[in-house]
Amino acid sequence: MTADLLPPLRDVIAQHGLRARKSLGQNFLLDLNLTGRIARSAGPLENCTAVEVGPGPGGLTRALLQHGARRIVAIEKDQRCLAALGDIAAAYPGRLQIIEGDALDFELADLAEPPIKLIANLPYNVATPLLIKWLTPDHWPPVWESLTLMFQKEVAERITAPPGGKAYGRLAVLAQWRCDAHMLFDIDPRAFTPAPKVTSTVVQITPRATPRAGAELADLQTVAAAAFGQRRKMLRRSLTPLGVDTNLLLETAAITPTARAEEIDIEGFCALARAYRNLRQIR
Ligand code: SAM
Repeated sequence: MTADLLPPLRDVIAQHGLRARKSLGQNFLLDLNLTGRIARSAGPLENCTAVEVGPGPGGLTRALLQHGARRIVAIEKDQRCLAALGDIAAAYPGRLQIIEGDALDFELADLAEPPIKLIANLPYNVATPLLIKWLTPDHWPPVWESLTLMFQKEVAERITAPPGGKAYGRLAVLAQWRCDAHMLFDIDPRAFTPAPKVTSTVVQITPRATPRAGAELADLQTVAAAAFGQRRKMLRRSLTPLGVDTNLLLETAAITPTARAEEIDIEGFCALARAYRNLRQIR
């Protein structure tokens, strides 16, 4: 079958019996304008490998190929989708590799040579663990040059939140420390089959040339986890589980002891992470 003759996505779903499964976070996007818009948001795809997680019946995959993706590696956990994806691979010879499996089990570096662009309408039930995995590789800069990902809007807000509000937390600190993260556009629930309960948002994440401030990843995660673990408490209380002199820690990081986690910007969290490391070393 050639690309032009691929059947409409609704027919693909019917033909292959792809009734959406909630346990796999399946909400299929069938609107070609929207799949095209997501594909274009990722920028040029001619000189990189596009990795797609959860291609499902292949709507976004087809948009990426039409947008000029030279090569796509697509990881899909649902075996039922493989035949439909195989038809797309046949229509675009040599451009689509399908891997059956759980994306959490794969390292991007093992899937393709950089440059890699990751593009996905993520299954909502594993979206955050997947993002954390991609934000915390063993080596930085990462093998990917951009992440163009769809999340539930509430998660997108937590990724991109500035300090000072309820959405600002561990995910914002982790995402924005070494990356720039922006919300691109919302997608109405009615665009999906079946319609989810909430609005979705496409987020673009790119690695920064330099992190916002110096810190060790593990220390930053530890201090952010403690601070936001008890986000309504003042830092002099919320940071006590760290097991160091909290007053000295805050003084070294030049942070007011009565401040609360959501008031501290990313540079402040990095200062706390560095002070935490120093204090542990001299203990
Ligand atoms: N890309 C398709 C679209 O836009 O219509 C489907 C998106 S749907 C929200 C999420 C897809 O991820 C489903 O096809 C589901 O089977 C797949 N999926 C769920 N968990 C997965 C996992 N751990 N690894 C890989 N794929 C997964």
